[in-house]
Amino acid sequence: MSSPADVSTVDLTTATDSPATELTPVGEGSATLETLRRVFGYDAFRGFQAEVIDHVVAGGDALVLMPTGGGKSLCYQIPALVREGVAVVVSPLIALMQDQVDALTAVGVRAGFLNSTLDLDTRRLVEAEFVAGEIDLLYLAPEALASRATLSLLDRGRIGLFAIDEAHCVSQWGHDFRPDYLNLSMLHERWPGVPRIALTATATSATRAEIATRLKLTEARHFVASFDRPNIQYRIVPKREPRKQLLALLRDEHPGEAGIVYCLSRASVDKTAEFLLANGVDALPYHAGLDAATRAANQQRFLRADGVVMVATIAFGMGIDKPDVRFVAHLDLPKSVEGYYQETGRAGRDGLPSTAWLAYGLQDVVQQRKMIDTSEGDLAHRRNLAAHLDAMLALCETVRCRRVQLLDYFGQALDGSCGNCDTCLAPPESWDGTVAAQKLLSTVFRLDRERNQRFGAGHCVDILLGRSTDKIVQHRHDSLTVFGIGTELSETEWRGVVRQLLAEGLLAVEGDYGTLALTDGSAEVLGRRRTVMMRREQARPAKVAKPRGAATVVAELSAEAAGTFERLRAWRAATAKEQGLPAYVIFHDATLRQIAADAPSSLAELSRISGVGENKLAKYGEQLLGVLAD
Ligand code: ADP
Ligand code: ZN
Repeated sequence: MSSPADVSTVDLTTATDSPATELTPVGEGSATLETLRRVFGYDAFRGFQAEVIDHVVAGGDALVLMPTGGGKSLCYQIPALVREGVAVVVSPLIALMQDQVDALTAVGVRAGFLNSTLDLDTRRLVEAEFVAGEIDLLYLAPEALASRATLSLLDRGRIGLFAIDEAHCVSQWGHDFRPDYLNLSMLHERWPGVPRIALTATATSATRAEIATRLKLTEARHFVASFDRPNIQYRIVPKREPRKQLLALLRDEHPGEAGIVYCLSRASVDKTAEFLLANGVDALPYHAGLDAATRAANQQRFLRADGVVMVATIAFGMGIDKPDVRFVAHLDLPKSVEGYYQETGRAGRDGLPSTAWLAYGLQDVVQQRKMIDTSEGDLAHRRNLAAHLDAMLALCETVRCRRVQLLDYFGQALDGSCGNCDTCLAPPESWDGTVAAQKLLSTVFRLDRERNQRFGAGHCVDILLGRSTDKIVQHRHDSLTVFGIGTELSETEWRGVVRQLLAEGLLAVEGDYGTLALTDGSAEVLGRRRTVMMRREQARPAKVAKPRGAATVVAELSAEAAGTFERLRAWRAATAKEQGLPAYVIFHDATLRQIAADAPSSLAELSRISGVGENKLAKYGEQLLGVLAD
């Protein structure tokens, strides 16, 4: 049944505008397109969905890399419906299986899951449905495949394909490693004739190679999408009073909207959630220190209710396929560009305008460098961590388009600048900071000679500004030749200089107290062999254009349509509550907006709207027309 080896790589990274036009579209009337329209209510495939689906339907193996929101699910859900037999979907997220199955049930697809949360009767029922071929998709956790009982169950049914979701969990270097994923290479040995499709939103080629090797997907065709997310506006701002800055962002740009706020520590998650709550934001905390029941309840509320803000550590988010997350904010510096991109990618899956916002300051650099120095593991491991941090810092300090730099990191090119990131919208000024760097490095050099003493960035800046603080007087640092030689810059600007030198490796931090120390690079600057260009610190945050920059994505609604949209949302909230489903499982915002804009007056007209498939039309069509007629 499996097709001949096809190891070519389809790389659509250059066709960012509309990749589909470069490829042969699947013919009108084909079974897959018919399924897309009838079941899911969508007009056309996106990107290379059609190619992946055709390849898998024909029995080929596939490795699919698409950004979050790219539309990976349909790549296995449609083959599951078109191919004979049941599709077995391996997913690491037990807590989300119910939602995945609910979403399929809502469009009339027969699906089930088996995991430890099921009672015995339900389990028996799902097993029987699988064996009888009465479902099209069966979701399993990877650990289930280690059990003999599950394997013998699978032998009793007919499997049409294996889908391995979140396939990067097989990567031992990634932050989502799941040992049970390593075992999945046995699928190929046990069921050699069944095609396998592995999917991930992790973009680096190293991860891709690792997935292919570890899952023994040696003959799989690779499909690599463009990782651009044009509807997300990327912004990185200097950190001042991060919680207040965050609150301003929520109030000015995302009032009442759902979003995720990432913090590094559990303590700061709790504090930030409390702060937001006290300021009238519907916020909830999520971190590994909360008990499982609280975590599950908070996650449920975030998924189901409209406009909840989740404040979390990075323990939260994988597999959360809530489409209407309108912003992702980072209050601390992420450890790598991979992590940052994955986390920010959780915004705007529905394609509507969204914001990725990061507040970043000197303390972040000091803290992260310190964490690396004191981390367990060998030198190679620490170097690896440092390299990842350096790439993240370079993104923060760049004067280039953030999106160009991000895609560049993933080996993809963007033509020109994006027009929808902070540096494009309010270009930062750069200045020649060589002399300032020399003044700072000379100060560090003089302090360095006082062994056993620990002086951090704040003390150096005080010296440069000529401040006679107690500490300066005590150590007689007011007699240093560098005392007071830096009054041309403000404290904020000096902290910016320190931060940028640290980011570029022209300065280092050592020990528990964040003592500044010179590096090989410092010598080049001091020896005038190197100039240092810096990003100007703004006294006030630059006014960035309203994040409705990606206006091409959504048509603005007229006042009347906006009113209709609100009524449709209220209807959806009530319906979701009544049926115990997340609101987005009923209809996405994008679909409701379109309904509000078009104001269809018949079921036939309604059925033409993207996201209204056969089943939802039958179930909700009359009700929607009723809301519109009000
Ligand atoms: P991923 O798993 O890649 O993050 P999803 O499969 O959740 O993405 O899809 C993201 C969103 O895009 C979903 O809301 C899905 O319904 C929608 N979508 C996927 N494919 C299409 C399509 N061909 N046309 C319209 N919407 C689509
Ligand atoms: Zn840009």
